[in-house]
Amino acid sequence: MAKQKRTAINPRRDEDYPGWYQEVVKAADMAENSDVRGCMVIKPWGYAIWENIQKNLDIMFKDTGHVNAYFPLFIPKSFFEKEAEHVEGFAKECAVVTHTRLEDDGKGGLKPAGKLTEELIVRPTSETIIGASFSKWINSYRDLPLLINQWANVVRWEMRTRLFLRTTEFLWQEGHTAHETKKDALEETFKMLNVYAEFAEKFLAMPVIMGEKTESERFPGALSTFSIEAMMQDKKALQSGTSHFLGLNFAKASNIKFQNKDGKEEFAWTTSWGVSTRLIGALIMAHSDDDGLVLPPKIAPSHIVMVPIYRTEEERAKVMTFIDEFISKLKKLRYNEEKIRYQIDDRDMRGGEKLWDWIKKGVPIRLEIGPRDIENNSVFMGRRDKDAKDKTGMKADDFVNSLTKILDEIQQNIFDKALKFRNENTINIDDKDDFYKFFTPNDKSNPEIHGGFAMGHWCGNSECEEKIKDDLKVTIRCIPINEKEETGKCISCGKESKRRVVFAKAY
Ligand SMILES: [Zn+2]
Repeated sequence: MAKQKRTAINPRRDEDYPGWYQEVVKAADMAENSDVRGCMVIKPWGYAIWENIQKNLDIMFKDTGHVNAYFPLFIPKSFFEKEAEHVEGFAKECAVVTHTRLEDDGKGGLKPAGKLTEELIVRPTSETIIGASFSKWINSYRDLPLLINQWANVVRWEMRTRLFLRTTEFLWQEGHTAHETKKDALEETFKMLNVYAEFAEKFLAMPVIMGEKTESERFPGALSTFSIEAMMQDKKALQSGTSHFLGLNFAKASNIKFQNKDGKEEFAWTTSWGVSTRLIGALIMAHSDDDGLVLPPKIAPSHIVMVPIYRTEEERAKVMTFIDEFISKLKKLRYNEEKIRYQIDDRDMRGGEKLWDWIKKGVPIRLEIGPRDIENNSVFMGRRDKDAKDKTGMKADDFVNSLTKILDEIQQNIFDKALKFRNENTINIDDKDDFYKFFTPNDKSNPEIHGGFAMGHWCGNSECEEKIKDDLKVTIRCIPINEKEETGKCISCGKESKRRVVFAKAY
């Protein structure tokens, strides 16, 4: 066997994928577990990624006519009880506030006092509390459509948590809209699904499949749920965003009515849609390698890190003057209509060590600048989409002139790599034995990375779906909306099927 290359992250992906994930998050200094069980602390590097996600998505929401608002963190229990399926779906994950204050317990501690007459639920999602406002705001067809988005935190009590992927409290956005007709609401549901897909592909460099969820995976209370699904490097799927068509269910529960053009009262058609900090987990698992995080330039907190190289104070002064001039040129540039984000790493430590820190943090471009480079008016560049040792010297002006092109190239390379990986691991399967083999690891006690996206036929019966889930832990990720109809036989029962669906193991 060939000698394994040394890697900055241990374990490697092929050795222990979940262990590798944790180490990437830690080495990039993105987040950590907190003293509150199941809740994470998002550190500045991780939060800056979220800010870039937020900023760019917010522009896309506003470009499609939405406005932001903010609603209470607490939802009265009675609001929640209005939509039966909704309650059932979320009841087990709710954090409940029962008291309003603390008092001396007589033993040197505190005890809750001031019992609330009605308990409050810490929002796991806001359909019911936003619905209460909508019912007041909407009176006439002239008030429609109402297109609102909220950036907020939500709480869903989780027993088994993983940084960014599944935490008790997480950050997200939730869009809530109300419309005159079913057609308008359905159009909105698809419009936002497309916004998510476009964002995932253009900004996160993550190819996604758009599709409808089966009934068993539907949002509690929705008539239909659509999602974007991405493939991670362990060949599992990660649901990266959802858009729900809620029909009249929540309008009836919250009494959202309007007077139509004929003066008659009708219920409004509503939708909701959301993405969360889970996208950061997706980003990590879609692109990072055995040396750490790999960030697409469009959402990287820094596009460039500059590492000055010097031995003496005199050299340092020269290098820093050069960097100052260099930065004044960078400041004139725009990438993705934003300023170039850069930093200078002048920490008192070895250059090599610094460079590895930035590799692990996923910065797209590293520049080493030393006295010899200054003499030649050049910079020494390393790129995160290439091997760590693959570096090129460039004239400083050439670098400045081609910087946006280089960033575009990195962004594209990261996307192409992820797309190639997904294509290589997506196959049509028609034989049941082949299907079971595809999703069964060779080593069951310590499963190796296996499986992928299996495009298989499904008859539409939930029993077949359930059987596959029980046997293999494989679920129908979605019924793709861009796939053409094709007759075949259900992979489980052999009955007639009209189309292929995406089967995969998932997060
Ligand atoms: Zn079947």
